[in-house]
Amino acid sequence: MSEHRSDYSSMYSQRSVKQPIDFARDVISASGKLAFDPEKLATIPARDRRWAWVEVDLAAIRHNVGVARQCIGRGRRLMAVVKADAYGHGAVKVAKTALNSGAEYLGVATVDEAIELREALINAPVLVLAEPPLASIPLLLAYKIMPTVYTPEFAIQYGEAADAFGVRAPYHLKINTGMNRIGIRHDEVVEFMTQVSFHRALDLVGTFTHFATADCPETLDFQIQTKRFIEAINAMRAAGINPGIVHAANSAAIIRYPDVHFDMARLGISLYGFYPCQETRRMVDLHPAMSVHARITEVKLVPMSEGVSYGMQYRSPGSVKICTLPLGYADGYRRELSGRIDVILDGQRCRQVGNICMDQCMFEVDMRVYGNRRRLDPQIGDEVVVVGRQGDSIVTVDDMANMLGTVPHEIVIGFSHRMPRIYV
Ligand SMILES: *Cc1c(COP(=O)(O)O)cnc(C)c1O
Repeated sequence: MSEHRSDYSSMYSQRSVKQPIDFARDVISASGKLAFDPEKLATIPARDRRWAWVEVDLAAIRHNVGVARQCIGRGRRLMAVVKADAYGHGAVKVAKTALNSGAEYLGVATVDEAIELREALINAPVLVLAEPPLASIPLLLAYKIMPTVYTPEFAIQYGEAADAFGVRAPYHLKINTGMNRIGIRHDEVVEFMTQVSFHRALDLVGTFTHFATADCPETLDFQIQTKRFIEAINAMRAAGINPGIVHAANSAAIIRYPDVHFDMARLGISLYGFYPCQETRRMVDLHPAMSVHARITEVKLVPMSEGVSYGMQYRSPGSVKICTLPLGYADGYRRELSGRIDVILDGQRCRQVGNICMDQCMFEVDMRVYGNRRRLDPQIGDEVVVVGRQGDSIVTVDDMANMLGTVPHEIVIGFSHRMPRIYV
């Protein structure tokens, strides 16, 4: 038997799965020589491997940090909330960009999200915005990740573990002022602190709450939450407890409510250029950082009344070219958008038609000439903007969110990581 075998099973049994590139190294051409050079294969860039990608404009991130900084003024900290892989934009890149343009704190949802930042050599303070499982405490201490705390069990175990390792146990205390998601009830804060204060390693670095309605037209619930928060902070101070960095504002409150900026503000959705609510559109100028692009993979004339895609809900009116794009609902181009949204080709909006498939979708180019419309000439390989701006035409994440009855957060997070993130 030849020394160089190319049958898959023997290769998998011999090789560690950690070196997939060896797979190509072992493919031997008919002449008995190495067929593919792994180094050359590795140089084929992400955007040539698949004609669908997400672009993230880091200048927009910098701009939006600047806008938030202007809102909160000097002497206050800004936390860049980079949970869920920076709302789908890429946590490490966004965190570094935000820290270089005026943010000093980072917020994440999980311990692993925080570890990813540390492994990218980011040294800024990182707060996990919820209380992680008790078993993760050694990771918090090892990676210098601050948890949010609101149960005595966690506080005690965290303090004891830190003591055993001979380190401090810094944390932020979460107060529930009315959203009723997580946190100590606003009128039980002093009692809680008294209960856990005997743990010498515990170090209260900050105290915060979260608003349920900062983006709503109605403001009464917001005012109630604010009043309860201020009372809780005052009660802590009166009891001789230093609350540390006091923070409450999310994007909506950063823009709408200067009174609740306190010592730090937590910038999430507006870091990425989205308006938390209608009212904020006339208050600040944000730049959306994300756009979605694809290249045409097929172009054809479909005769009149022939159907397109699963279910054939769409029938060709004739006089149209049907173009195919290699992205679908597995990429976050949600199926409910089928036939209801446009894409942009050569600066002109074109209707997406037929059901969006898992990995592909189709759109229609009208070949008739009327008005002063330029006639388009779609070709395989032409770039199409799925979300974003091209020329005077724009398809926004907000359009998609409105159509689906959801918030922009869910749309941007939904663009899957099967599409590479390209930073521009
Ligand atoms: C996600 C989150 C934020 C950011 O909220 P946006 O509305 O996206 O600005 C702020 N604080 C907490 C606790 C969060 O979980």
